[in-house]
Amino acid sequence: MTGTTLDDYTDRYARRVRGMTASEIRALFAVASRPEVVSLAGGAPYIAALPLDAVGEMLAKLGAEQGTTTLQYGIGQGTLDLRERICEVMALSGIDAGCGASPEDVVVTVGGQQALDLVARLFLDPGDVVLAEGPTYVGALGVFQAAQAQVVHVPMDDDGLVPEALEATIAAVARSGRRAKFLYTIPTYQNPAGVTLTDERRERVLDICERAGLLVVEDDPYGQLGFDGDAPAPLRARRRHGVFYLSTFSKTFAPGLRVGWILAPHAVRDKLVIANEAQVLCPSTFAQAAVSTYLATMPWREQLKIYREVYRERRDALLDALADLMPEGTTWTEPQGGLFVWATLPDGLDAKAMMPRAIAARVAYVPGTGFYADGSGRASMRLNYSFPAPDRIREGVRRLATVLEQEMAMRRVFGAVGGTGAGRRGRPGADAPGPDLA
Ligand code: PMP
Repeated sequence: MTGTTLDDYTDRYARRVRGMTASEIRALFAVASRPEVVSLAGGAPYIAALPLDAVGEMLAKLGAEQGTTTLQYGIGQGTLDLRERICEVMALSGIDAGCGASPEDVVVTVGGQQALDLVARLFLDPGDVVLAEGPTYVGALGVFQAAQAQVVHVPMDDDGLVPEALEATIAAVARSGRRAKFLYTIPTYQNPAGVTLTDERRERVLDICERAGLLVVEDDPYGQLGFDGDAPAPLRARRRHGVFYLSTFSKTFAPGLRVGWILAPHAVRDKLVIANEAQVLCPSTFAQAAVSTYLATMPWREQLKIYREVYRERRDALLDALADLMPEGTTWTEPQGGLFVWATLPDGLDAKAMMPRAIAARVAYVPGTGFYADGSGRASMRLNYSFPAPDRIREGVRRLATVLEQEMAMRRVFGAVGGTGAGRRGRPGADAPGPDLA
């Protein structure tokens, strides 16, 4: 190849690459990370809440004293030591030996993100359908899109996924002659909606999936970050068959280490390990040793409490500021854990179109469209409260409220300037299409 034009490359892309685009979040990061901008757009944990001196000392020792193993290759499934400790962590959420959880069936991954990718590789052929909440985690959309799968969203309300809508969606997919391979769900402190699937609905969702022969991929990075009491037991604590449980140390310890895991049904564990070896040979031995040692020697349960306290205070700061400052007609979810609030704007406003004006007013958020595969979500936005300090959160909402007032005044003067004018208000997925595949 002699030329260096873009076309020389784009003509050769694999089909799965053609639809790949940067997520809205990524495109925003460059501007949102300027110091004068209050960013409610990210999803970063507040790492300064860690005892960084002690963690640094632990990491130095791991290299100096155990470097011959911690800096060596490891095995594709992940170290037994870490897998045993992961079982201790899961037991805290009720996933224990009693429901068949065992270190044998844990596969360590490079963060929760690679866990998703492995499951997609194992099950998705091009054209397969994946059911997912609407809205859903943007990184999961990227994985499913790269697998050339079609995501069909299932609406939520304040109690999480709506079981009747799930049933209707499964039926609609079947009528279209296709087969949904699995339900991808974040039942607890959902990203981005901040809602939690109720106890009663968990049983119904599991029953519906079981009857329809649908696997369940339960993504649970936030389950141990509840502020107002414990979350309902994970789906995997209720059913040992048909549920893949994915989690990560990114939010409970540190995302920079990139350590996550899958608790897989025993029958597919080997295939996952083979797929993991094909992708990364083995997850980082050093990062695994760091997490193992952290769990063995440092007060990690206390650290969870610290994170919860910090985030509860920030969640309260965001909810108070929204209640005090947002114009009438704006609605939002009230998360009991996790990192995100989902806000829906007054009728006719468009969070995506408004973004440049918000950045000019020095506040950033993620427009709701980033969390749908089908272009829905224009009336909504995701707001993060884990990273900015409470006074910055309030200032961010003050700026956002000013932008909204201006948008509403413009609409009054010039009429509608785009936007969907969502009909049903105040809940995630309110402007998502129903179970129809169109
Ligand atoms: N799943 C969900 C729902 C998430 O919110 C995230 C991270 N924001 C991930 C998976 C990926 O986690 P990790 O950073 O461990 O790759």
